[in-house]
Amino acid sequence: MEISLTAGQIGELSTLAKSSLPNESCAFLLGKNDNVVEILPMRNSDESTVSFSIEPQEVLRAYDLAESKKLHVIGIFHSHPAKPAPSSTDKRFMEINPVVWLIYSTTEQRFRAYVYGSDIMEVAVKITA
Ligand SMILES: [Zn+2]
Repeated sequence: MEISLTAGQIGELSTLAKSSLPNESCAFLLGKNDNVVEILPMRNSDESTVSFSIEPQEVLRAYDLAESKKLHVIGIFHSHPAKPAPSSTDKRFMEINPVVWLIYSTTEQRFRAYVYGSDIMEVAVKITA
């Protein structure tokens, strides 16, 4: 399993993460199959350095927008001012929402992706031109 993003989208997400510091940033990844087509930056209503959450009405709007563009929410992005590994809270939410979770570490400046199957599994991040 993998998630595929363009180099431009990777740049967009790392910029979003850095501009949200010291807090975590978050975004929905809209696309088809494994390919991200559009990034939808969301507001971290926690305004926290260790967690994020998105208001339910904003989640609904994002899903409606995806549907209107004939895309799916194929992933959830958020950043950590720490290691790019899921926190215990992340793991709980990954289980509820088993799409690909893409995490960017602003300290290590790298991306890692995970998905919940019977356990948390790492997903390859493919970067295309
Ligand atoms: Zn997290």
